[in-house]
Amino acid sequence: MALLEILKFPDPRLRKLSQPVETVNDEIKSYLQDMLETMYSFNGIGLAAPQVNRLDRIVVIDTRAKDKEDRYDLSNMTELEQKVTQPLFLINPVIVHKEGKTTYDEGCLSVPSYYETVERFEYIEVEALNEKGESFTVKTDGLLSICIQHEIDHLDGKLFIDRLSVIKSGKIKKQIKKHGYPEPKKNNEDAGETE
Ligand code: ZN
Repeated sequence: MALLEILKFPDPRLRKLSQPVETVNDEIKSYLQDMLETMYSFNGIGLAAPQVNRLDRIVVIDTRAKDKEDRYDLSNMTELEQKVTQPLFLINPVIVHKEGKTTYDEGCLSVPSYYETVERFEYIEVEALNEKGESFTVKTDGLLSICIQHEIDHLDGKLFIDRLSVIKSGKIKKQIKKHGYPEPKKNNEDAGETE
């Protein structure tokens, strides 16, 4: 397994359209593990292939919270979320049904240290291939639904900061282009979730 480099806004490679995977072969399976390891190492809850410079429609997700003893704590998850096995691998994901509206303070490993409220669909149904290349459907709401929508945006070259008001989005982009990103914090006080 290998840790992959995460591209950061305003890298133009994050704006490219990713292509469907034709065959879920051993190379893809191994790459899924690299993506997962990279996501965990940055305390992310989701990672899309274009964030690590690969234009394939691949997403890895794990939104499960952990308690102080490092055990999974699913108590804040909705019933639907709890039914989805995680980590979740989505290859060629397509949202086939969506309902309702919700908001969440999103972050992104490609836009580190920024958190902004984004509106998403509350409930979604997604068709995809799993890590074995089998087709399946995910039906979920809650944070998992938000995270899946955020990651699919990456496959289309879209970032969460594009979904803010024109003024707010412009301000953040200008600030990053001018000043870059703040140095990462040395302690673990920053417990925000990052996609
Ligand atoms: Zn992201």
